[in-house]
Amino acid sequence: MTATPDIGMVVVQPTAFCNIACTYCYLPDRSNKHVIAQSTVTRLFEQIFASGWSCPEITVIWHAGEPLVVPVSFYREAFATIERMRPASVHVKHSFQTNGTLIDTEWCDLFKEWGVGVGVSLDGPRELHDLHRKSRSGKGTFDKTIAGIRSLRENNVDFHVISVLSHTSLDQPAELLDFYLTEGIDQICFNVEESEGDHVSSLFHGPELRKRYAAFLRSFWHLARRSGRVRFVREIDLALPRLFRPEGVPARNIQVEPLAMLNVDSHGNVSSFSPELLGLKNKDYRDYLLGNINFQSLQEIRDTCLASALYRDITAGVQACSRSCDYFSVCGGGAPVNKLFENGSFTGTETSYCTLTQMVPTDLILEAYDRLAHSPAMVVPQDVPSPSPVQSSDVAA
Ligand code: SF4
Repeated sequence: MTATPDIGMVVVQPTAFCNIACTYCYLPDRSNKHVIAQSTVTRLFEQIFASGWSCPEITVIWHAGEPLVVPVSFYREAFATIERMRPASVHVKHSFQTNGTLIDTEWCDLFKEWGVGVGVSLDGPRELHDLHRKSRSGKGTFDKTIAGIRSLRENNVDFHVISVLSHTSLDQPAELLDFYLTEGIDQICFNVEESEGDHVSSLFHGPELRKRYAAFLRSFWHLARRSGRVRFVREIDLALPRLFRPEGVPARNIQVEPLAMLNVDSHGNVSSFSPELLGLKNKDYRDYLLGNINFQSLQEIRDTCLASALYRDITAGVQACSRSCDYFSVCGGGAPVNKLFENGSFTGTETSYCTLTQMVPTDLILEAYDRLAHSPAMVVPQDVPSPSPVQSSDVAA
């Protein structure tokens, strides 16, 4: 019997439309201006709250296309509706992943009023950012994105950036750090340009990638630590508690649990597992959809999920990982969408993506911890307790 889901993350696509056209974008429907109906948002959260399956804290990520092309008034209404329905025992945290080009004071007021988490896609200084992040007419978007970031800072809105690393930026950890510090950016996440959907990355499958990325991340982490001005490097700071955790507590991977991650498109179609699966198609699994929240209950959607080839194959992939991979205890079986795009199947194991997101950070943390353990100034206990919460500053050299 499969346990009932602990819904921890809901990814809602308010619209598939995006106002810009990055060269590495994998979204097939990014010119479609349809916007999710308020009634669909209401029905979705009615179902989630009535199911009793929600975690004590649910993160709602408004993402994919560009969520800020939908007016502020839409979110005010949606947030208020969700708040009215929310059981007292459940905390809801809203979050946006945006290209930043539309951020102004009105958006900042919304972010502050509702405590919204904001992630801005920014690939670094102008020459790196404008390489791929282009307007629909092919011009660079750096000026608009940086204006949005400056507006966030002027209005005291907490935010992080996500930078996609390319061939060029992988060689420039110091330059990237200088840029972030100059712009007052102190929470940073990295993605390496991936192959997803129709987009094929030449970088991702290169033989030197693991070595180059490890060198980049090691250097960036240590320089950031030395600067004393960076609060968060996602690749390290999220890996630390997965690595150093209390005995017997498994590292959760919500991308492989049915409905733990609920992904809903602007028409109410529901998928689970990796959010990137929403909107994609494949000859074996067709469209990865498990139902539509406007017409089906979450219970029905869950039943469909449990009976699906998608779930069967993702589970087989996790089991294969558990048998073969030394990193399984921190990873939990990886990202299904990357297994599919890199290996052609959910049932496989290692991918370039898991090498970069799981193996390299784990190796770097253990390397730093090992150095610390052998430092004459440091006495390390034989039985390492669970030093939680661990900060990257505790182990970075
Ligand atoms: S690191 Fe890769 S191979 Fe290892 S468990 Fe994760 S997905 Fe599987």
